[in-house]
Amino acid sequence: MKPTIVLVGRPNVGKSTLFNRLTKTRDAIVADIPGLTRDRHYGHGKVGSKPYLVVDTGGFEPVVKDGIMHEMAKQTLQAIDEADVILFMVDVRTGCTAQDKIIADRLRRCSCPVHLVVNKAEGMRREVVTAEFHELALGEPMAISASHGEGVTDLVEIALEHI
Ligand code: GDP
Ligand code: MG
Repeated sequence: MKPTIVLVGRPNVGKSTLFNRLTKTRDAIVADIPGLTRDRHYGHGKVGSKPYLVVDTGGFEPVVKDGIMHEMAKQTLQAIDEADVILFMVDVRTGCTAQDKIIADRLRRCSCPVHLVVNKAEGMRREVVTAEFHELALGEPMAISASHGEGVTDLVEIALEHI
């Protein structure tokens, strides 16, 4: 069985951009409109000789009970249940938000490993990128740039190391 990597994070942090890079497709729609990916999205990838399955999720709106936002949260929760490893993405450009903290609280209850990934960090020093995200208490944050490809291979190797 291929390990399943699930990408989680609030809208617009770069999940679909990372999905595309991890699967080398243009499958997931990347957009500036928050919340565009409404369904779970599956793709295959490989790092070295190690294959994996990757799941892109829609937004995460645990406070909205009805309508489309509720559906997106449900999809995300289902994806979390199927995960062997979770990549929780945040955005260095917006910094640590209240919604990031809500998601972090939920992810801390997961039985599988959760890696905190700080995206949009191209051209920035790692210590500067990760500093404010330590408060999410999900271990050492990893800095990447999904759109530039920086840190992505290292990230996947680390994520799959003990799986
Ligand atoms: P999602 O809603 O989490 O799936 O986010 P998307 O992948 O759709 O990306 C949202 C926006 O962030 C798009 O405009 C992307 O081009 C942009 N983006 C994604 N990754 C990066 C990155 O590493 N650096 C920068 N500067 N922008 C990024
Ligand atoms: Mg998306």
